Amino acid sequence: MTNQGNNDINEYDYDAVIIGGGCAGLSLARLADQLPFGKVAVIEAKAKKQDHAWGVFPNAFTDDAIVMARKTWAHWQIITDQGAITQSSDIRPYACLESKAWLTHCRQQARALGVELIQGQVTDTTTNSITTDHGMITAGQIFDSRPNPIPKGMMIQHFIGHEVQASTPVFDPDRAILMDFRCDQSRGIHFIYVLPFSATQALVESTIFSPQIEDNEFYETAISTYLSDHFGITDKIILRREQGAIPMGIMAEDHSTGLPIGGRGGAIRPSSGYAFGFIQKQISHLINRLKSGQKPKHMTPHQNIDLWMDRIFLKVIRNNPKLAPRLFHAMAKALSGDDMARFMTGDADHLLRLKVIMAMPKWPFLIALMKSGG
Ligand SMILES: Cc1cc2nc3c(=O)[nH]c(=O)nc-3n(C[C@H](O)[C@H](O)[C@H](O)COP(=O)(O)OP(=O)(O)OC[C@H]3O[C@@H](n4cnc5c(N)ncnc54)[C@H](O)[C@@H]3O)c2cc1C
Repeated sequence: MTNQGNNDINEYDYDAVIIGGGCAGLSLARLADQLPFGKVAVIEAKAKKQDHAWGVFPNAFTDDAIVMARKTWAHWQIITDQGAITQSSDIRPYACLESKAWLTHCRQQARALGVELIQGQVTDTTTNSITTDHGMITAGQIFDSRPNPIPKGMMIQHFIGHEVQASTPVFDPDRAILMDFRCDQSRGIHFIYVLPFSATQALVESTIFSPQIEDNEFYETAISTYLSDHFGITDKIILRREQGAIPMGIMAEDHSTGLPIGGRGGAIRPSSGYAFGFIQKQISHLINRLKSGQKPKHMTPHQNIDLWMDRIFLKVIRNNPKLAPRLFHAMAKALSGDDMARFMTGDADHLLRLKVIMAMPKWPFLIALMKSGG
């Protein structure tokens, strides 16, 4: 399978190979014409992947995706026992992008540019070779987007979502609910997320921040209870299910198997689990670097100060899970919708960061700060 060692124009089977045809891998492959590589391939293990929704606060790198969004909401809410805060943003409305739509689009674009999409399970890599269950191939450059295992004990954002059809119009299609904490808080920081596509159809997710994944029954009961308690829904049709577990922490970077991109390359925002916009930013930075003739290098889409704030925030909510609804309420109250969207996308300036800090209760943060050594 390999022609490594011959002296033809191509020393390797491919100039670049991207391992993993998920969000990062395909978002990079669709821009192959901007890369300084002639022959590019993507290796993906799964023939069929779970469809899910990406909730996205738009940034400067998501325009191509946002035009494909299933729906956007200029208004969204954070709800706790202290009340509901509604935020609005016409500049950065919250968007729902279906993974199937984006990944299909990326695949089509990549294929049109001559990128080979190979199905195979990567089992090993060296600097210029990749072993799969179908054989070995060689590559001048390897990009690796396989998710790293989540370290034991790390905070995880874990969830199950049901896209439901109600028999009567109960949802407000103009207002998404990003967090509703009026649910069972016994297993960790737990909230319900509602993306209403119409008055009768919505994606409803039970999400927990904790180190421990629960049985499916817990999330499913939470969704049913919530829909019954707050929307009076007792009979519903489940149109689609999705499930996930996203690390909430800063993982050690692993460059041993190729240049890490996507979640593996640290693109997931630790405090929120938001990934899509950061992945697009990371890829754009990487492409700009390569276009300017520089060598491939890992690019972080986050600013150090944001990672530092996330670390402290995660420490506080981990030590005081019961405090979390109050913190999100206070943050939502202090920020405008535009501010919130800028903060979530990593586009905050120091003034906005200060606004967030000032909205937080001081003692838990000072304690976390002292314990973390500053
Ligand atoms: C159900 C769900 C809902 C989510 N909702 C949101 C959201 O609302 N907003 C948001 O920003 N983020 C969301 N996320 C998180 C986000 O989707 C992920 O963090 C993002 O997909 C990471 O992209 P990635 O390319 O790094 O990894 P992935 O998209 O996981 O891609 C990695 C790819 O590598 C492949 N692979 C793994 N091992 C091998 C191997 N050995 N050989 C070959 N291929 C391999 C996998 O099959 C996969 O396709 C959600 C995740 C899930 C699962």
